[in-house]
Amino acid sequence: MSVKLIQNFIAGKLCHPANADKLSVTNPATGEITGEVALSSAAEVDQAVQAAKTAIVKWATTPPLRRARVMFRFLELLQQNHNRLAEAITKEHGKTFEDAKGEVQRGIEVVEFACGVPHLLKGTFSEQVANAVDAYSFRQPLGVVAGITPFNFPVMVPMWMYPMAIACGNSFVLKPSEKDPSASLLMAELLQQAELPDGVFNVVQGGREAVEALLDHPDIAAISFVGSTPIARIIYQRGTAHDKRVQALGGAKNHMIIMPDADLDQAASALMGAGYGSAGERCMAISVAVPVGEETANALLDRLIPQVKTLKIGNGMEPGLDMGPLVTRTHLDKVSAYVDSGVEQGARLLVDGRGYVVPGHENGFFIGGCLFDKVTPEMEIYKNEIFGPVLSTVRVPTYAAAMKLVHNNPYGNGIAIFTRDGDTARDFVSKIEVGMVGVNVPIPVPVAFHSFGGWKKSLFGDHDIYGPESINFYTRLKAVTSRWPTGIKEGAKFNFPTL
Ligand code: NAD
Repeated sequence: MSVKLIQNFIAGKLCHPANADKLSVTNPATGEITGEVALSSAAEVDQAVQAAKTAIVKWATTPPLRRARVMFRFLELLQQNHNRLAEAITKEHGKTFEDAKGEVQRGIEVVEFACGVPHLLKGTFSEQVANAVDAYSFRQPLGVVAGITPFNFPVMVPMWMYPMAIACGNSFVLKPSEKDPSASLLMAELLQQAELPDGVFNVVQGGREAVEALLDHPDIAAISFVGSTPIARIIYQRGTAHDKRVQALGGAKNHMIIMPDADLDQAASALMGAGYGSAGERCMAISVAVPVGEETANALLDRLIPQVKTLKIGNGMEPGLDMGPLVTRTHLDKVSAYVDSGVEQGARLLVDGRGYVVPGHENGFFIGGCLFDKVTPEMEIYKNEIFGPVLSTVRVPTYAAAMKLVHNNPYGNGIAIFTRDGDTARDFVSKIEVGMVGVNVPIPVPVAFHSFGGWKKSLFGDHDIYGPESINFYTRLKAVTSRWPTGIKEGAKFNFPTL
C-alpha cells in the first residue's frame, strides 16, 4: 500500500515543509500505515500567517453577500463530496462510514448557517439620539484567526470554526489533529473550488510545536481550540497571555440520569448509542449511567448487558456495524488500562471488551464494549475521561443524590435526564450546572443555529462555538456617534458629554 504525504496548504498551494519531521498516520481498522504527516515548525506557521495576512486585505472588505456566495458554492460541493469526506474520516479515525456521514452532515449545517451571514452581520441604528446626532453599531472582522482541532471529528469540529470565521471576513489557519489530518486537505480543495481567494483558508499540519507557534504569533487575533481539558487550559492561558481572544473547549464526563419513571427500553437504547457510538470517542458521549433507585438500576442493566455483548464491531467501511476501532494503538492501550484500573479498584465489570479481535483485522485497534456496575466517584474510571466504549454505572438512591454527583464533577459539557415527569425535567433543566442538557435526548448537541459550549472545566473562555455566538467571537463591535449636518454651532463643552 502506498504511503501518501499529508502536506500543508498555504496561499492556495500544497507545500511540504523543508526538513520537517514526519509522523505516521494509520488506518485503525487494519493497523496499516497509510500516510505521513509533516510536523510543521514556527517557520511554516509564519508562512501561513503571512499568506492569511495578505489575503485579509481584500477579503475583509469583500461585501458579505459575496462572501456568502462562496459559502453557497462550498455547500453544494460539500454535498457532492459527502461520501468522499466520510471515507477519509473512517479510514483515519475508524468510526463507521454511516457515523462519519452524520459528522459531515452536522458540519454542512454550520455552512448553511454561514450562508446567512449578510443578515447575521446587520448592525443597529438609533436616529436622533440628540439634536442631529445618530448612533449606530456594527461588527467588523478580527483579522487572522486560527483553529486547533482534535482527532475525534476531523471534519465537523474544523467546520464549527472556519465557515463562520471566513464568512465574517477573517482569514483562517487550521491546525488539524495529526492523527487524522487528510480530511483537512479535502476541505481546502473544496474551498478553493468554491472560489475562496487563496490565503483566506490555510492548513498547517503538525503537533505541539505548530500549536505553540500559533499561540505566540503576534499577527493572530483569535484562537478557537477543541480538545482535551489539560491542553485547553494551556491554550487559553498562553493565548490570552499574548492578548488573543481565545475559546478553548475541553473534555467531558457526561452523565445520564435515569429516573424510576423513565421508559427503560428507550433509555437503554439511548445509552447504547450515546455510550458506544463512535467507540465512545465523542466529547458528548455518555460515559456515566446514573439510575435512581436499585430497581431502576437492575432493570436498566438487564436491558444493557445483552446489547453490549452483541455490539457489531469491525472495519468501519463495512456496512451494518455499531462501532469501529479506536483511533490509535496508544489510545487502545490507554482505554484498556482504565478498564484494568476499574477492576482493580473494585467496580463490577459486567461486560469485558478487552482483547477483542475482529477476524481478518487482527492488527486493528479494536476493543469491545465494556460495562461497569457499582462504580464510585473515587475510582479512576469515574474521575477521568476514558474516551472509549466504557460505560460506568453509578447507582444513587435519589434524584437529589444524582444532582449532587453531577455538581461535584469538574466537567460540565453535556448531560441527559430520562423521565416521564415534567416537574422533574423542568427542575433539572433549571438547576443543573452543565452547558448542554438533554431531556429524553441522550446527545444534546445544539443544532447549527444555536451555539455549542460546556461549563466548568469543559470550556475556557467566554464564547461558545458556532451559531450566533460565533458572530460575537469572530468579530468586534464598533459603535459610532455622528452629527450631521455640521452647521450646528455649539461652544466648547468641558463636562463629560451627555446627550
Ligand atoms: P488533544 O487535546 O490531545 O489534542 C487536540 C489538539 O491539540 C490537537 O490538534 C493536538 O495536536 C494539539 N495538542 C496536543 N497536545 C498538545 C500540547 N501539549 N500542546 C499544544 N497542542 C497540543 O485532544 P484529542 O485527543 O485530539 O481529542 C480528544 C479530546 O477532545 C477529548 O478530551 C474530547 O472530550 C475533546 N473534545 C472536546 C469537544 C468539545 O466540544 N468540548 C469536542 C471534541 C473533542
